Amino acid sequence: MKVWAIANQKGGVGKTTTAVSLAGLLSQAGHRTLLMDADPHGSMSVYFGNDPDTTPGGLYQLFHDFDTLSTQSVRNIILRSNYDNIDIMPASSSMAALDRQMGTRSGMGLVFSKALGLIDEDYDFVLIDCPPLLGILMVNALAVCDELLVPVQTEFLALKGLERIVHTLHMIMQSRNEILHYTVVPTLYDRRTNASRGALEALQEQYPETLWPGVIPVDTQFREASRVGAPLSMMLPESRGALAYSKLLEYLLADNRAVSQSVVNS
Ligand code: ADP
Ligand code: MG
Repeated sequence: MKVWAIANQKGGVGKTTTAVSLAGLLSQAGHRTLLMDADPHGSMSVYFGNDPDTTPGGLYQLFHDFDTLSTQSVRNIILRSNYDNIDIMPASSSMAALDRQMGTRSGMGLVFSKALGLIDEDYDFVLIDCPPLLGILMVNALAVCDELLVPVQTEFLALKGLERIVHTLHMIMQSRNEILHYTVVPTLYDRRTNASRGALEALQEQYPETLWPGVIPVDTQFREASRVGAPLSMMLPESRGALAYSKLLEYLLADNRAVSQSVVNS
């Protein structure tokens, strides 16, 4: 099982779109994929037809039942999607209260690690859609992931948000005492605008080693795909957006990248 977290403390930068798009492509390639919705807003759950306001426990249950978690109890929280090889661990609105309820209980940073450890055999890939704030859910995601993807909207204000998450990441890496790979993914790129081109150049300067060398372009079909509730690669495999995510996936799956990055980071 490989665990990828998708995080940025800014909203609207393409986190959920990235999680859903990569899950679509992974599933189409035959990989058993679990999408975990760690954002209390539950956009990803809604994408697949699960309303977080009416979902009884969802991912919240992992924290509630932490002491007694078993393989079966974790499996019970997972729902099938309409697509082969994509399962969902949905969000519920109760997750918004987690920091207040559990923030100080010990062991609460390793809830995802314990839960995913119990279902290690069930999936090839787990993608965690993170909330836009640093709290217990984000800490759990960063603690368990093998790889962190940071989608960044290509506009100047978004670069500030990136600095914040990179700082958070360095703190977590120190506490994990190991190297965590992260990849910055430029999103919502519109090559006709100075703002997009300028922001991309700034990213190339500031994050030369960790920046994915491609871009995810603006493609209105993403909105249409979310309305239909399908990953874009299943709805329109030849769309610019779907092709861009498939290049990103190819890059993430290439082993040589991991080696060169760990050399850079160490
Ligand atoms: P986040 O999860 O970071 O809040 P989303 O993935 O929900 O961001 O994206 C925010 C909005 O932008 C959504 O309506 C989504 O459909 C749209 N969107 C995301 N990526 C693109 C893109 N590359 N082109 C056009 N629209 C996009
Ligand atoms: Mg989102």
